[in-house]
Amino acid sequence: METRVGFGYDLHRLVRERKLIIAGIEVEHDRGALAHSDGDAAIHALIDAILTAMGEADIGQHFPDTDNKYKDIDSSILLYEVMQICRNKGYIVNNVSLTIVLEKPKLAEYIPVMKIKLANILGVGSDRVGIAAKTNEKIGATGREEAIVAYAIALLIKK
Ligand code: MG
Repeated sequence: METRVGFGYDLHRLVRERKLIIAGIEVEHDRGALAHSDGDAAIHALIDAILTAMGEADIGQHFPDTDNKYKDIDSSILLYEVMQICRNKGYIVNNVSLTIVLEKPKLAEYIPVMKIKLANILGVGSDRVGIAAKTNEKIGATGREEAIVAYAIALLIKK
């Protein structure tokens, strides 16, 4: 049995008059991520974790932000497409683990539904999706509520 590990990172600036979408779920807030897509940093980090685990090119090469097809796209759709690549190459997801760094709002109440959302797309049980939420202790760009950051790791198994 071959296992593959991959890591991903993403950051988006937070601005007024944008929805805040994290792990496919809309989080109630007075600002959201500035991006060509819906700006879902958690899914973008997860996509890079899965793609790089397979030795594939990163999210920017698979889904270029110069392509109008991806304007304001629901990043869940991109994750579905990545899972299709995964299946075609004979991989399944063993588990994933994400850390989201966001000063406000608190994400605890959203995490159970985020886990189910991601688990459904990945084709695993929600106990195989781990999500930690952190603040940046009010320092740096994330601490000043100017950005959201996400980190992700994925373990794949080749069938
Ligand atoms: Mg991104």
